[in-house]
Order: sequence, then C-alpha cells, then structure tokens
Amino acid sequence: MSLKVYNSLTRQKEDFNPINPPYVGMYVCGPTVSGESHLGHARPFITFDVVYRYLMHLGYKVRYVRNITDAGHFEEEGRAAEDKISSKAILEKLEPMELVQKYTNLYHWAMSQFNNLPPSIEPTATGHIVEQIEMIKKIIADGYAYEANGSVYFNVEKYNTDFSKLGKPYGMLSGRNIDEQLDTTRELENQDEKRNRNDFALWKSAPPEHIMRWQSPWGEGFPGWHIECSAMSSKYLGQEFDIHGGGMDLQFPHHECEIAQSTVCNHKTPARYWLHNNMITIEGRKMGKSYNNVVKLTELFSGGSPVLTQAYSPMTVRFFILQSHYRGTLDFSNEALQASEKAFKRLWEAHEWFSKYMIVEQAGTDAALDQKVQALVAEFDVFMNDDFSTAKVLANMFDLVSIINSIKDKHIADTAISSNTLNLLQRQLKVYLEEVFGLVSERQGDGAQLDGVLQLLISIRKDAKSKRDFMTSDKIRNELAALGVQLKDEKDGGTSYTVA
Ligand SMILES: [Zn+2]
Repeated sequence: MSLKVYNSLTRQKEDFNPINPPYVGMYVCGPTVSGESHLGHARPFITFDVVYRYLMHLGYKVRYVRNITDAGHFEEEGRAAEDKISSKAILEKLEPMELVQKYTNLYHWAMSQFNNLPPSIEPTATGHIVEQIEMIKKIIADGYAYEANGSVYFNVEKYNTDFSKLGKPYGMLSGRNIDEQLDTTRELENQDEKRNRNDFALWKSAPPEHIMRWQSPWGEGFPGWHIECSAMSSKYLGQEFDIHGGGMDLQFPHHECEIAQSTVCNHKTPARYWLHNNMITIEGRKMGKSYNNVVKLTELFSGGSPVLTQAYSPMTVRFFILQSHYRGTLDFSNEALQASEKAFKRLWEAHEWFSKYMIVEQAGTDAALDQKVQALVAEFDVFMNDDFSTAKVLANMFDLVSIINSIKDKHIADTAISSNTLNLLQRQLKVYLEEVFGLVSERQGDGAQLDGVLQLLISIRKDAKSKRDFMTSDKIRNELAALGVQLKDEKDGGTSYTVA
C-alpha cells in the first residue's frame, strides 16, 4: 500500500516515489512577515505540517524547508514596485529588520499554538541575497533575462519558445495560457521596462528613498519575490527535490515563476510533486482587506475578531481544518467552529478515557464487532495514503468513539472485543491523533507543564530519600517551599503538593 499524492503539475494522483529514499526533500513557501499572521496562514502550515508528520510516520527522513520572506514581496495594490517590508516599516516607524523580527516572532508563536513542528531549515530571503544574485546572473548569461534601468526581468516568451519541450512551459501549473495572463497579471508596474507584459522582475532597482537595498552587478536594488524560493530550495534541497507545497493562490504567478527560473538554471523541473491546499472563505466570502474580514490569529484565539466573534482554541481550529480535505475549499463560520469545538471535545475525551483503559487478555465474544473495529482502524492508513484524506480518518474515528463510549457506558460488554483489537485501537488512536494529526489536549499548557515538573522533582526527591541522601531531598522540599509549593508526604508513600 503506497502513498498517492495529487500533483498539481499533472492534475492527477500519482504514486509517491521520492528521488532518493528514505530521504524526502520538501519545500513550502513561508509567510511574508510584514504583518500579523491571519487565518489564511493557518491552513497551508497546518496542512503541510500533517504532510510532514505523515511522511515521517511512514519512515521517511524528511528535510522540510520553509522560508521567511523578509524582502522582495511587492505591494500588490500599488503600482510602484514597493517592497512590502519596506513600506510597512515606514508605516510602523521601525527599522525593517525590527519589523521582520516582530512579525516572525508572532508567526512562530502562532505556529507553536497550532502545535506545528518547526521546519528543518527556515531560511530568509535577506540571508540569501548572494545566492539570488548568482542565479539571476546565470539566467541573464543563458539569455532568458534582460536588464533595464538597473532592474532585471525574466523573458517569459523566450522561455516558452525554447523550454516547452525541455521543461514545463510557463502557465502549465496553473493551467493558464499566456494570453489569459495578459489580462490577469497584477504586476503592472514599470511596464515600459518590460519587453512583454508577462515578464516578471528578478531584480528591482531601488529608488533613492527605498530603505532595503543591496549591491548587485546591476546597481543597488532588491530581489524580486519569486527568485528567493528558487535560490533557497535548490541550495538546501538540490536542483531536483520531491515536494513543493503552498497555497493554491501561489500557483500563479509565484510557482510558475519558480519553475521557469529553476528550469533555466538547472535544466530540470525543480520539484516532482507540487501540492497545493485550497483557499479558505469566511462566512462564504473571500478573506481580504476589502471585505473587512481579515481574521488575525491573535484575535481568533482571544475572541476579538470582528467576524469570528468567539474565542476559538488553536486545537479547535486545527481540528476544523483537518475535518476537510486540503484540496477542497473551507468555509469558516461561528457555527462551523462551534460544532468542531464540540466534536473535538467528544473525540478527545473518548481518546483520553480509552488510552487509560486496562485491556484484559481475552479472545472477544462478538466477532462481528471485533472485525468492524479492525476494519475502521485499518482504513486510517488507506485514507492517509490516498492524498492525505484526514477527514475520512476522522469520520472513522467518530464511529470508533461511539464504540468506545458504549464500552465506557457498559452498553457493550467488556468481553466483546478481543484484547488484540483493543490494543490495536488504543495504539493507532494515539499514533494518529497525537503524532500524525498533531492534536494535543486542550488542558495541556502551563498547568500541565508545572505538574510535570513537580512530579519530576517529587520522584528525584523520593530517589534521594531512598539512598539516604537527605541533603538533596531536604533541598528540594525547602526550596520548593520558598517558591510557595508545599510538599506533603502521604501515608501511602506518595507525595502530594499544594501551590500557593
Ligand atoms: Zn515561494
């Protein structure tokens, strides 16, 4: 049973065959850190966190590269080629790198709230200016880019004439043809410098007032947005790697540009499998400044958002996202999130109760029920191997929750299901919920951590006492008391504590 993934490049599900197993290289476009993370950031990063976790669950050794765009992303609304970081830094009266740090910290905080694992490498655009310049030089030398007034543009027409046989033509990924792009491209600035409206900037000449600028063979300027991902993915994952991921909105022009740039430099399509999560909507509408419905993650967690008015925990949001297939659209609403909150609670309570359930060795008296449980559990792998169908796994889990609750409420006899099947269920629920889906108990947090630390100290103290090392045991008790934590030795040999 092998993993199949939907490849946006070929528009079909394909067997996942990594280039150099057991190693897998995965690149996912990270955020532009010019502002606070919003709900639109939640879906791609949770989706690819689960992809990352599942690949590791299958035994692959994954190098997961996710960049930070801290330069080069142009303002979309304005016609002037203004870097988003630059313009926001002026607005907030901060040094550009101060702004970058502020929003990178907030982004990392939000990712940890979602229990997303950190990537293996998190390179920044400003840390790779040299690599980007080298790549641009190569593209110019090969004749696929030209300089105009200190800026450099990629020649899309020439690329498509020469490379349609060699590599993937520009437009293939997003399924657009060049004529359509004429009307839809938003890169309207400096049209006079471009030979063709489809051409895109690899390097931009910096006007005197532009604060973010670097030396280059074409004068002082800053890199275009697309070139950073080509430079960083090839540096850390090689000229050809396994998975490139991101939101569907990045297919055009960002990923088209990445493919064209890398194909010119390396004569190879950079990634084998292009995975894209679909977009989110909020109460049926696209999220955007113009709709006044951008939900910042800080507001979502604390309840201050103008549209999603209640506070929703990061685990509710994570669970809600996993309840849909990543390639389908996903609509956020108060009703839907409240339903998810309840469903997650029900699932997690059953999991917590059952994970502590003492399984007694037995053959099982209800063969049909036993087989049903086995079949539901076996499908976890089947569904995940079918392009990461998390929603179907969760649907099976709810069938299993009903069975678990029936055991709990004694509607099903303790003896009905064999111990082998119960052990399998206990193990797979834990593996899938915690390791693959990355869900954690809502109760975990400061309280659970403190309890863990205190239990550790209590056990160290007990060991010390048993070795008659009273200096250590007294030290633990006295210093905890000084911090307001009173230990109390119980008659049964255990130790309890109270926190002032
Ligand atoms: Zn990118």
